[in-house]
Amino acid sequence: MDASARHLDAAGAGLKTALPASSPSKGRTLFMHLHPLQFPAGLATVAAAAFCLGAALPGCCDAGERWFRGNLHGHTTNSDGKLPPEEAALWYREHGYHFCVITDHRRLTPVEPLVRVQTPEFIVLPGIELDSKPGGRNVHTCGINIRSEIGPQGGETVPDALQRQVDAIRAAGGVAMINHPNWTRAFNAEEVLPVRGAALLEIYNMSSGCENEGDPEAGLRSTEGMWDWLLTRGMRIWGTATDDVHTYVAGHPDGPGKGWVMVRAHELTPQAVASALARGDFYASTGVELQDVRVERESLALKVRPTAGVRYRIELRGPEGRLLEVAHGEAARFDLSGRTGYVRARVVASDGSLALLQPVSLQSTARD
Ligand SMILES: [Zn+2]
Ligand SMILES: [Zn+2]
Repeated sequence: MDASARHLDAAGAGLKTALPASSPSKGRTLFMHLHPLQFPAGLATVAAAAFCLGAALPGCCDAGERWFRGNLHGHTTNSDGKLPPEEAALWYREHGYHFCVITDHRRLTPVEPLVRVQTPEFIVLPGIELDSKPGGRNVHTCGINIRSEIGPQGGETVPDALQRQVDAIRAAGGVAMINHPNWTRAFNAEEVLPVRGAALLEIYNMSSGCENEGDPEAGLRSTEGMWDWLLTRGMRIWGTATDDVHTYVAGHPDGPGKGWVMVRAHELTPQAVASALARGDFYASTGVELQDVRVERESLALKVRPTAGVRYRIELRGPEGRLLEVAHGEAARFDLSGRTGYVRARVVASDGSLALLQPVSLQSTARD
């Protein structure tokens, strides 16, 4: 614990001096509304856009679009999970999910044999969880919707190991997710920043020991804090919530049904789901469901699908995770005019559950 805390401090101190100077006026000048949830490569052609969430709401989404609930990270008896693939997938189908990704350690579990589980309303995506251990530190990534097996990737340092894994996942046609940075206090945001091509970062891995909240006294950032640190420095990466399920018993510390994503897509196919994940067209949830979200040129509005007896606090956060505005209740509208950098909304329920929207870039400093 001490060693990782010292490392975090040392790396943080080293990088602070290398940060680019901020340029708020530049950000304001270049403000134009981007497609929500995206950091597009080109700013010039981006038009104002409105959108909303809420799969079942008539007239809510663009024509033909729906929202699909899925778990991105799960193990079966092909690695250290407690159920065979078919039964594992069945758990998700029977609990209101539209898809799950099987991410066994170091091997691709074929999903084609799972014909009895897959339906027009439920699919299983092929995946893998890669691992390396540079300097004794656990570096794990999930490859989502990969097309081929991926062998061990090694790596001399954490950034090197992450980059090798991400590159291998992309070469296999998959979407790369950097997993549980605080599990075993493995690595920090400074070591993620140099990595290119990872679409996703696990913010809420709901399995045991992931220390999502960090340990401020030991200098360990929360995973949301890491995400804000990276976004502030222009990294384009979307935040997820996952089960990392091993034991298929609800309520178990490594059980299912605790962290998921709601993905917006025109159809329920592996490719459509993977594309929506890659472009950030989803939100992460540990229990809060959204009914409507609208991001327009200078405003962000959202509405919660409330649960009886639960109260909601809706936050707008910006660079370095600063709290910009708060609304109490089931709906909020935030004025974005004059803001720079990025903004992201999060909903905190009185039962402790959350919804995390993806960040919206407000200036041209974003990079891949
Ligand atoms: Zn892992
Ligand atoms: Zn795992």
